[in-house]
Amino acid sequence: MLPLDPQADIGRRAWVACPSCDDARGCEPCEQRRTCSEHWRYMLSNTGSLLNLQCPSCTHVWVHESGFGATRSLWDRVTSGWSRH
Ligand SMILES: [Zn+2]
Ligand SMILES: [Zn+2]
Repeated sequence: MLPLDPQADIGRRAWVACPSCDDARGCEPCEQRRTCSEHWRYMLSNTGSLLNLQCPSCTHVWVHESGFGATRSLWDRVTSGWSRH
C-alpha cells in the first residue's frame, strides 16, 4: 500500500468509483451517483478536466478524465453535495 499523498485533503473530495478496489459496489447512494459519506476519493490535484485522485481505502492513485473542460464547472460539480449539509 502506498502512503496517503501529502496533498490529500479531506476538504477536497471527489465522488468517483475506484478502479482498484471497487468498494462502492452495491452501495445505494453511490449507484445513484449521489455524494456518499463513505465512498469518496481524495482529489490531489487537477489539470483541466483531468483529476489526480487517491482512494482512501486502498491508497490507489490514478488519473480520472472528468470530461469537463472548464475548471469552474468541474469544481461546481464535485462540490455540489456540500451545500446540502
Ligand atoms: Zn480503492
Ligand atoms: Zn457509497
